[in-house]
Amino acid sequence: SPSSSSVIIVGAGVSGLSAAKVLIENGVEDVVILEASDRIGGRIRKQDFGGVSVELGAGWIVGVGGRELNPVLDLALKSNLRTIFSDYSNARYNIYDRSGKIFPRGLVEETYKKEVESAVQKLQKLKKLEAGGGDFSNVTEPPTTQKTPIELAIDFTLHDFEMPEVEPISTFLDYGEREFLVADERGYEHMLYKMAEDVLFTSEGKLLDSRLKFNKVPESHPSHDSKLDLGQVVRELQHSRSGVTVMTEDGCVFQANYMILSVSIGVLQSNLIAFNPPLPRWKTEAIQKCDVIVYTKIFLKFPYKFWPCGPGQEFFLYAHERRGYYTFWQLAANLLPCHQHMENAYPGSNMLVVTLTNGESKRVEAQSDKETLNEAMAALKDMFGPDIPEAADILVPRWWNNRFQRGSYSNYPMISDNQFVHDIKNPVGRLFFTGEHTSEKFSGYVHGGHLAGIETGKALLEEMEKEKERTSESENQA
Ligand code: FAD
Repeated sequence: SPSSSSVIIVGAGVSGLSAAKVLIENGVEDVVILEASDRIGGRIRKQDFGGVSVELGAGWIVGVGGRELNPVLDLALKSNLRTIFSDYSNARYNIYDRSGKIFPRGLVEETYKKEVESAVQKLQKLKKLEAGGGDFSNVTEPPTTQKTPIELAIDFTLHDFEMPEVEPISTFLDYGEREFLVADERGYEHMLYKMAEDVLFTSEGKLLDSRLKFNKVPESHPSHDSKLDLGQVVRELQHSRSGVTVMTEDGCVFQANYMILSVSIGVLQSNLIAFNPPLPRWKTEAIQKCDVIVYTKIFLKFPYKFWPCGPGQEFFLYAHERRGYYTFWQLAANLLPCHQHMENAYPGSNMLVVTLTNGESKRVEAQSDKETLNEAMAALKDMFGPDIPEAADILVPRWWNNRFQRGSYSNYPMISDNQFVHDIKNPVGRLFFTGEHTSEKFSGYVHGGHLAGIETGKALLEEMEKEKERTSESENQA
């Protein structure tokens, strides 16, 4: 028989958990979170690799040092998460060509300036076309084959490694332009456990069990009966004026008055979840219009370090004639830069991370890790010579082929009107939407997911309040 509750939340990433917290703290009694995977966190995810824990997903708290406190930094501070200031603006002074020579500063500065200018020009062109109501669907980048390897490396850093966002970037305006790297063995996800523990969990250990009931009852709401169900893949979703029903892959049925769907935009674009009745056209069109970025951090473990170490050398670039081909390198995400005594903190963590995106990400996801390792080694040998040691191990996350993710984060089209953003997030009857892709100002980021969850939770509370009023009115009339 179906189990019923007041709200079902699909997905236990930062947005789903933030929404749950708002609901439970405001007295909503039986909230059930259904999570497809066997863990919470979604795209915040650590994994043990080569003796340390690395972040496969989000690694940075982006937007620090501005006029407002980034709510994610606030959560990180409250959970004692270890973070370090991270500055990759130096990366461009460590660009290697294929014969291992570093490009001179003068050339780098000149190229950088040119690339920034051309990006600004392109945006202005788009804005002009938009203002004139013109068709800007065929405004494209100049073919990248005409660019030199150093231009391509800088272009990649500006548009793919950093967020492919359009200026002005709300995150930087509101929270500041600095970025902090999470460098904590417990992982970025530790922040989520801490954030949710008051309302959802008894202790961290409990979260490892599946089919877990949140058995810590908040004092203010003694009848609280909420629960997190791991390993529940939602496949079908029926919604009507009276409620929602969910069917999972295992044949479980859940019913509720309302639902919050926090799955990624990539999952919404896929056919993992069938909607019955189908979503209205305004909704499906907005979903299809949103871009999905694939962003992949590949981890390589070496027997010893062969790369230069020192202030300003935590990042380096490889200038290849193919755009995005093993371009952006850094020291492993969860580790301190070597000049900050990484060797003392994590002895022997001789690790490099290379970032691939979009087409290159999909390409390496489809091939064997051994092939990827060989390609990465060839790039490193170009830069550091033939005598460097072979990598002992490689870790290739597959965000694109993960059917519960289908990409790394959303990217709103260059020119997107408010209507588009509202269509992405507006509810359909009793079905509410959340997730980083529903954040008007901060889509793509952890803080976007967190704030979206809070916003959706509040919107649902309001709706529940209205429904209560409607019911009591009609009861009075009766
Ligand atoms: P998710 O975390 O994806 O949560 C959705 C949950 O729904 C998942 O747990 C999923 O398993 C579950 N789910 C999906 N389908 C179903 C189903 N059918 N049934 C049940 N459950 C389902 N942001 C930053 O701020 N800084 C960074 O440095 C940064 N780097 C990133 C690097 C990478 C490689 C990636 C992938 C992302 C990065 N991001 C970064 C983005 C950030 O991680 C996300 O914006 C944020 O974590 C998204 O949270 P969410 O709750 O919206 O979605």
